[in-house]
Amino acid sequence: MLESLGWNDGFASSFDAGEGRVPGRVVVEEKDAFVVRTADAEVHARLAGRFRQRRLAEELLPTVGDFVAIDARDDGWSLIQAVLPRTTAFVRSDPSRATMTQVLAANFETVWIFASLTAELSARRVEHFLAVAWNSGAQPVVVLTKADLEDVDADRLAEVESIAIGCPVHVTSAITGDGVDELKEHVSGNRTAVILGASGVGKSTMINYLLGEQRLATQPTRADDVGRHTTTHRELVQLPDGGMLIDTPGLREIGIWSIDGTDTLYEDITRLASECRFRNCKHRTEPDCAIRAAIAAGDLDEGHMKTYYKMLREMAFLARRKKYKPGIDWRRNTKRVADVAWNDRADL
Ligand code: GDP
Ligand code: ZN
Repeated sequence: MLESLGWNDGFASSFDAGEGRVPGRVVVEEKDAFVVRTADAEVHARLAGRFRQRRLAEELLPTVGDFVAIDARDDGWSLIQAVLPRTTAFVRSDPSRATMTQVLAANFETVWIFASLTAELSARRVEHFLAVAWNSGAQPVVVLTKADLEDVDADRLAEVESIAIGCPVHVTSAITGDGVDELKEHVSGNRTAVILGASGVGKSTMINYLLGEQRLATQPTRADDVGRHTTTHRELVQLPDGGMLIDTPGLREIGIWSIDGTDTLYEDITRLASECRFRNCKHRTEPDCAIRAAIAAGDLDEGHMKTYYKMLREMAFLARRKKYKPGIDWRRNTKRVADVAWNDRADL
C-alpha cells in the first residue's frame, strides 16, 4: 500500500506512469544502491544512466524518503528513472567539496529533536537543531528523553520551552513509555518524522521502543554522553501503528543553513532590532540599542542572540560561495544576507 508510505495526490500528480514505471519510496540509501519500497514489493535499485550522463547536481539525486519512479530490469536490479518533487528536505553543504550540497532526507512532515534530560541539557544545541528543523520546511518537535532517570528540572524545561517557540516539547522515557503516545501522534496518518539529536541521548532506544523490536543496536551508557554512531546508513522505517521515521546519522554534523523558516524562532530578536535607533545597528556601542538594553534588563538571553547572529554569519559565508540551491528562493536569501552582512563578526 503506497498510501501507508505517505503517497498522496500531490505525488501522484507529478508521477508519469509511462514505460512501465511504478512509484516507490526510497527506504534505504547506501553508497551506490538503494532499497525502494513499492505498493507490493521491496526492491534493490540503482540510478538510471541518465542521472550520470546529465551530471545532475547532487541535490537532484534520490535520497532516503524520496518518492521515485522505477522500472525493473532482468538482472534483478530496478532502475530509478525519476525523483518526484519534494515537499521538504534537509540540505547540507558538503565540507569536502567547494560548491556541492547534499540532501540527507526528503518528504517528512515533522522533525524530532532529541535531547537527554540527564546530560547537560544544552538549550543552545536544541536551538541549533531547531533552526535546522525550521529550515527544512517541516514542523519541529522537541523530545526530552530519559525522564525515568531524572526528576525533570522545571527551570531547564522552562528554558527549552522558551526556545521552542511554536513547537511541542515532550518529556519521554523509553523505559516507562511516558510521553510516547503523544509522540506517535505526530506521525499518525502516514506521516514521516526525521530523527535529530546528539549521540547517546536515546534516539535508537526510542526508535526500538516505537518499533517494538531491537532493530537498532544501542550504545552502552557512557558517562560523557557521547559515543559512536550505531547506524551506518540512512534508513526509513515504518512503525507498526503507522507512520514512518527517518534516521540519519549524517544530520548531526549539519553546520550551515539558510535562515528561511527561522523567523518564528528568532522573532524576539528581529523585533527588538527594529527598535534600535540606527537601522544598521551592530548592537555594540551605538546609542539607543534595543538589543543591548534588553540583554541588560534580562529580557533577552545573550546566548540566544549570539546563536542568531552566528547563523546569519554562516549564511553570509554561504552566499559568498555562491551556492546553488534549487528549491530555495536564493535571491531572497541573498538579499537578506546582504542586509545583515555587517554582523559578520568573528567574536560571535
Ligand atoms: P542514541 O545514540 O541517541 O541512539 O542513544 P541510545 O539509544 O543508544 O541510548 C544511549 C544510552 O541511553 C543507552 O545505554 C540506553 O539504554 C540509554 N537510554 C536511552 N533511552 C533511555 C530512557 O528513556 N531511560 C533510560 N533510563 N535510559 C535510556
Ligand atoms: Zn542595536
